[in-house]
Amino acid sequence: DHYSTKSISSARVKEFLASPQQMLVNGEWVDAKSGKTFATYDPASGEVLAKVPQGEAEDIDAAVTAARAAFNEGSWVRMRPNLREDLLWRISQLILERADDFAELESLDNGKPVGIAGAFDVRSAADCFRYYAGWPSKLQGATNNPSMLLAPQEAEFHSYTRREPVGVCAQIIPWNFPLLMAAWKVAPALATGNTVVLKPAEQTPLTALLLGRILVEAGVPAGVVNIVTGFGDAGAALSGHPNVDKVAFTGSTEVGKKIVGAAQGNLKKVSLELGGKSPNIVFADADIPSAVAGTIQGFTLNSGQACEAGTRVYVHKDIYDEFNAALAEQVRALTIGPGNDPDSDITPLVSEEQLERVMGYLDAGKREGARPLVGGNRWGDSGYFVEPTVFVDTTPNMSIVRQEIFGPVAVSIPFSDEEEVIEAANDTEYGLAAALWTRDLSRAHRVAGRLNAGSVWVNTYHALDTALPFGGYHQSGWGRELGPESIDLYTQVKSVTIAL
Ligand code: NAD
Repeated sequence: DHYSTKSISSARVKEFLASPQQMLVNGEWVDAKSGKTFATYDPASGEVLAKVPQGEAEDIDAAVTAARAAFNEGSWVRMRPNLREDLLWRISQLILERADDFAELESLDNGKPVGIAGAFDVRSAADCFRYYAGWPSKLQGATNNPSMLLAPQEAEFHSYTRREPVGVCAQIIPWNFPLLMAAWKVAPALATGNTVVLKPAEQTPLTALLLGRILVEAGVPAGVVNIVTGFGDAGAALSGHPNVDKVAFTGSTEVGKKIVGAAQGNLKKVSLELGGKSPNIVFADADIPSAVAGTIQGFTLNSGQACEAGTRVYVHKDIYDEFNAALAEQVRALTIGPGNDPDSDITPLVSEEQLERVMGYLDAGKREGARPLVGGNRWGDSGYFVEPTVFVDTTPNMSIVRQEIFGPVAVSIPFSDEEEVIEAANDTEYGLAAALWTRDLSRAHRVAGRLNAGSVWVNTYHALDTALPFGGYHQSGWGRELGPESIDLYTQVKSVTIAL
């Protein structure tokens, strides 16, 4: 049955959804070799939105073979920097030209507010291609000055380093920011001359397929980017493939560990962006209205389905009651509704499975003795909505305090002094992000230096930008993406020495 497209405003999105979905392998749009497809759903209603090919190991193999051939053939690797820059710039422009289509499609497939999809996801994806468009002409090596201890005194050497692409890159991405995660992976890989096999999440494959059309239109050569839709088995085949040189993964810590295991066969390079349980600390001298607003944004953006979400809120005891009262009042005032309603603040979770997972945590929190200050329940009886929720009366070992929930759920915990809250904030197996709210400049720097997290925000939350490296301490991941750090992830350094 076809999805009813009458509420869709973009003619191109209607046409896209009505057309058969295929995967991009070696520059061709293809079905899965098995002919199998699977459904992707509208999370606001649970209706089937589209069917996409169910790629499996044999499709992954074809895509890796194409990526290897495109890499080995050499013209892509050696493409002049100015032409590579033009290409990446064109991709950025095409995303911006189709921004409304991407935003609407992302909102339909993921459930997120269409306004945020447009203002954040799509713009940031375009920005990511534009940022990395600037890099090809700036990739540099160094000339070095070796001592060459075994050579005779009079011998002379010329020695330098080159930055070269890693090779065939497997990129496995999640469903929370589908287009943006594709951009974070594909843009730096292309800027540095790699070839790619991208596996979007099974919950949200559509904007990656639309991006594929743009890559072809912009002139990315056949085989340089391949996109295979499918489930975890396709991801596993990709991360274990002996002809892949690097795997970049964003998703759960649990699957991240499987990727590390699968990568061992040929010791492919691995970078990981995994889960989080990020602390958000409000000191007594904070500007309370902005701390309340930032805290709410911190745990409700994308309905809490953000790896850097600020879900452990620590509030100084002198302002705890006042802060909680304002927090509860403003959380209660949030509007829950579908992503295509511009008034919706809280939109559905991505899938029925995610709804069940989050409901499981809400039940566990209540069972373990925590009290919902606000929220605590499912909302409505169709679609995958959950009330934004803040728990109080928690203890440090409760599952809602320790585990990543990935829904609009936070805990509010009182603290007495700086030393105590730093220790509590760092008492986690994760370390992706942290925030603190204070007007004391010395404290801001002092505490920022001691929080074990890849990103620390002061008097703000979710401050992400293509220029800023992003990644985690501990089990939040390996490596840093964005900024110049992604250039490091997608290149390897060769040292060349010539006896003169
Ligand atoms: P997931 O980690 O299972 O899925 C992420 C991607 O990995 C998808 O493309 C999936 O198909 C693929 N995958 C699954 N199994 C694989 C395997 N064995 N080998 C290779 N690839 C595999 O995430 P999920 O199940 O969709 O969500 C579960 C939890 O993960 C969430 O509740 C949340 O806590 C966390 N999560 C984190 C992020 C993040 O941005 N860090 C994103 C999504 C989910």
